[in-house]
Amino acid sequence: MTKTHKRSTIDLCVRNIKERNDLMKDQNNFVENLKKLNEYEVMYDEYLDDITSNAAVLRHKKSGARICVISNDDKNKVFSVGFRTTPTDSTGVPHIIEHTVLCGSKKYPIKDPFMELSKGSLNTFLNAMTFPDKTVYPVASLNDKDFANLMDVYMDAVFNPRIYEKEEIFRQDGVRYELFDKDGEIEINGVVYSEMKGAFSDPMEVLRNNEMAALMPDNTYGVVSGGDPDVIPSLTYENYLNFHRRYYHPSNSYIYLYGDCNMEEKLKWLDTEYLKNYDAIDPKSEIEMQKPIGKMVKQNIAYPSAPGEDAEAYVSYSAIISDYRDRLKEAAITTLVAVLFSAPGAPVKEALVKAGFGSDISANFDSGIQQGIFSVMASGIGADKRDAFYETLMSELKKVAEEGVSKKSLMAAINRAEFSYREADFGSYPKGLIYNLSAYDTWLYDDSMAFDKFHGNELYKKLRSLIDEGYFEKLIKEDLLQSDHCALTAMEPDDTLAEKKEKELKEKLAAYKNSLSEKEIEELIAKSIHEKEYLEEKDSPEDIAKIPLLSIEDIGKETQFDDSEIVEGLKVPVIHQNIVTNGITYMTMFFDLPEMKTEELPYVSLLSTVMAYIDTTEHSYLDLNDEINTYTGGISTGFTSFNKYRVQYKDYNRPVFLVKSKALSENMKYAFGYSLEQMYKTKFSDTKRLAEIITEEYSRLKMTIGSDPFQVAVTRLKGYISDKVATGDMVNGTVYYEFIKKLAENPEEGGKQVAGKLEELAGKLFVPENCFISVTCDEKDFEGFKKELENSELSASTSSTTAVDKILNFTPVRFEVPEKVKNEGITVSGAVNYAGIGGNFYAENYEPGGTIKFITKILSTGFLWDEIRVKGGAYGCIVSIDGITGEVMIVSYRDPHVRETLETYGKIGDFLEGFEADERTMTKFIIGTISGIDRPNTPATRGNLALIRKIAGIDAERLNKTRAEILSCTPEAVHKYADLFRKIYKNNVIIAVGNDKEIKKNAELFSTVRTLV
Ligand SMILES: [Zn+2]
Repeated sequence: MTKTHKRSTIDLCVRNIKERNDLMKDQNNFVENLKKLNEYEVMYDEYLDDITSNAAVLRHKKSGARICVISNDDKNKVFSVGFRTTPTDSTGVPHIIEHTVLCGSKKYPIKDPFMELSKGSLNTFLNAMTFPDKTVYPVASLNDKDFANLMDVYMDAVFNPRIYEKEEIFRQDGVRYELFDKDGEIEINGVVYSEMKGAFSDPMEVLRNNEMAALMPDNTYGVVSGGDPDVIPSLTYENYLNFHRRYYHPSNSYIYLYGDCNMEEKLKWLDTEYLKNYDAIDPKSEIEMQKPIGKMVKQNIAYPSAPGEDAEAYVSYSAIISDYRDRLKEAAITTLVAVLFSAPGAPVKEALVKAGFGSDISANFDSGIQQGIFSVMASGIGADKRDAFYETLMSELKKVAEEGVSKKSLMAAINRAEFSYREADFGSYPKGLIYNLSAYDTWLYDDSMAFDKFHGNELYKKLRSLIDEGYFEKLIKEDLLQSDHCALTAMEPDDTLAEKKEKELKEKLAAYKNSLSEKEIEELIAKSIHEKEYLEEKDSPEDIAKIPLLSIEDIGKETQFDDSEIVEGLKVPVIHQNIVTNGITYMTMFFDLPEMKTEELPYVSLLSTVMAYIDTTEHSYLDLNDEINTYTGGISTGFTSFNKYRVQYKDYNRPVFLVKSKALSENMKYAFGYSLEQMYKTKFSDTKRLAEIITEEYSRLKMTIGSDPFQVAVTRLKGYISDKVATGDMVNGTVYYEFIKKLAENPEEGGKQVAGKLEELAGKLFVPENCFISVTCDEKDFEGFKKELENSELSASTSSTTAVDKILNFTPVRFEVPEKVKNEGITVSGAVNYAGIGGNFYAENYEPGGTIKFITKILSTGFLWDEIRVKGGAYGCIVSIDGITGEVMIVSYRDPHVRETLETYGKIGDFLEGFEADERTMTKFIIGTISGIDRPNTPATRGNLALIRKIAGIDAERLNKTRAEILSCTPEAVHKYADLFRKIYKNNVIIAVGNDKEIKKNAELFSTVRTLV
């Protein structure tokens, strides 16, 4: 590899001069039209070159509302209304308002309009979010009529909610004191209360809240806008209403319209339906800048862990070093975080780990609030090393500033960030939504700055030009090294804390009960019964009919389908998805694992982890990572498996190792070169490095498990219901975790132990005979791709199998499952639970198709939502039914209960058997089901979906048949599935991950109960 560092030409949207002039003319027309609207004033406008959009910010003259308009040809339109909400306490009042304004309004007086829309609209996004300083209500849709409906329901919700008439709404989602029997104990319940108990079980949340409180004691950021479970119960109904009165006024609103729609018409509508009813006020919601606190706050805190849990300690340094006005500095600090702390081989991170400060280091720069926070966290060290950690961090930063930051690494990090900025792939989130949140990052603090985050191209160019000017070194010296506004926090686990808190709460509630007179107790019981009845009350059909609904005729008859073409005659079999990708080629090399033994699977996973983190014979891993980021959009490795449609998963499982890359099409030679270098030239014999990776991996897994028990429940459950363990537990889940844990007991030994094995596996795995490549790009770029493949160092397959046979007619693989556990209780730290049940509809002789998709919708937004969230007080419940493999999984989320939830699953059969619905209700659920299928996908996702379908044997005809079944679904069709869910329940394949006490209390439900970490 050459050592010259010429910059790769990243230019996805080259336009000629003529086109540019046309665009400017468009912008003038756009603004002229807006100026014709008398009710509004155009404050400023701009043609946003980076996202090819006409944009303007307007002010509604009478009400003082601000509106940001971004007009372009994106069919996935976005509308949102946001408010600057700046609480002064941690009662979670903005969060409770966010939940409850969506529980009925003047025009839509039903209990849950939000859920009605989730059940039966074509939305591509529908949610609401509470941030530390704002509350945002965004909706998105491809369908014009649907989009107009969503806008109306949301505007009415925020401005005319029924919360003033119905205290029950506040009690349901916020907080309620429950007492049903005069000799019983008072309990606290409520959706937000449970949600935040779950959030506070995550050590990272505890750490972040404490840091914010230390750094911003004088403004809104010092309190928890989501709500602290210890404080939430003190919120009164009156204070809650006052918050809404004060902040939910158009003068305090930030309205956003995006995409391909008639903006003038929308603006007129906003005026006549809502805004003209208000007179402008001064909402006084500005956020004061937090003045430097003039020192370093040192604090030692504790977080609750489960008894017997091997919980981690943490030390974190955080500092305020910038604010929203300086975009260049923010981008530069983000670059420094990547170079010094995040990239494989990042120098400051490595130095800290080598000096014994933790098993893993992570750093972050948060620029989503008014003042940016830089933070560095070490896992695995506690209070005794707190001060020394800080000293070493500073001396390492100083060293880097004096010796100079690697120019090559800076260039690599900037190029990679620019690649992502231009690719704008936000997965399942609409682009317009992400742009909305970007606009808030500056607009919320300065009315004139709505578009400051849309100048990335210019910004990255500027950053590159500063590399040679010592700018980054100066930044370290002036901002990272000298802070009079910072905090140093040590956080250690305390396994008595949860119990102590619970006891305190119990005592408090008992004392409260004692303070009540007999009459007051009777009143509380009556109130509790009334509130419970309210939860079970049903809306009248007349009121439900007020929620606008599309008709079946508004729905297209065809599901979007991308075909794949298998290409013969190349070095290895290739499957191509011909999709327009804006000049990026997405490539995945797949390797079958026919020779693998079950016990080798965790090693395969480890192989995927170490591949980018070990030197090759050509490069140090630091250098290789810089090369990859300079010329590509990234290379990653992993594991997945393919299945055939309607063939029982256990007979047709094809686990594959994958090496994935993306790059501008002219840079594909680099994608090939570096992928092959990792596969064939990695020095697995470096046992010292392996030892370090094992320690980091252990620490990382421990943190993810602690932060995400839901994922533990899901992977574990997957392991029970299918022999597809290859893709589940053994590779990503608890089996892998335990494998790494064992190695980490003695990492030096561990490194020596795995080195030979990894070498052997790589040799067995990366042979051309096992390989096929999937590539997504347009026709023209595919020609280039073929040339690069032939020029690459990949050896040609000598197998005589045709490409079609190789890719489609594979030999299934079966792994022996070592343990036959089918139900388990797993205790982790935290106050909430995740309870699930699983099965397979093929195994019970049921058919895939439209009805089962319809059932997924009525369970997740109907029956289970009502039982587990509304009545049970859990945050939610997911229902996942895989039409290809037949897997059925139902898992609750942040759930106060275990037994009750599992019992609810037992009632699904009866619910389905008794399912009755009038025409409107059927239409609603049918539209809702279709909305889950008609998602606007990014090019990368479309390519991946096309591949999975091709291999499974699903064609356009099959998709349209399923669609037709959904469109014509009937209650009778649903009844036929009642027995499926009864059988699944009877099989008793269950999991519960959660609170130590709750799991142990219900121990007899499980064949084993254990602690994971
Ligand atoms: Zn919430």
